[in-house]
Amino acid sequence: MIKINVAEIRRHLTGNKLLQFDAKPEELDIAETELPIAGTVRIDGEISNVGDVLLLQARVSARVNRMCSRCLKEFTADSAAEVVEKYYPSGSPGVENDAYVYEADIVDITEPLRESLLLAEPLRVLCKEDCLGICPVCGADRNVHPCSCDTGTIDPRLAALKQFIKY
Ligand SMILES: [Zn+2]
Ligand SMILES: [Zn+2]
Repeated sequence: MIKINVAEIRRHLTGNKLLQFDAKPEELDIAETELPIAGTVRIDGEISNVGDVLLLQARVSARVNRMCSRCLKEFTADSAAEVVEKYYPSGSPGVENDAYVYEADIVDITEPLRESLLLAEPLRVLCKEDCLGICPVCGADRNVHPCSCDTGTIDPRLAALKQFIKY
């Protein structure tokens, strides 16, 4: 959990507090199975007092371990996300249920940092845009060992059909 004491900035109408630190993945409640982070997570931003709410603006970045979904190669890549969230004083009227609130001058910024970094992961990870993947016939990584397998006749039912058409 990452909690920021905002007592000081709440005393000033335009007060802000810089956030510049590294956090361990577990401090952001990010498990290895959710997102394998290599090293620590960098947070750069600020919390500012903008009147009736506190505004969190930050950039979250980390090196993450990824695996290509085509060739299964493991590699590390830079991931980053921008976070902008409002925090309302708890008990203030008209605040929606899912809004972030804070109590007793303590703002817990764990959740938005965690979520934005998880959402920054691409749904389909590729080591490179034009990754050739693994040959379904011989199993070679076609980026490294181009093979000349005929992947057009991999489906035996399809092969039988082709045979049929020929005669
Ligand atoms: Zn690949
Ligand atoms: Zn092959």
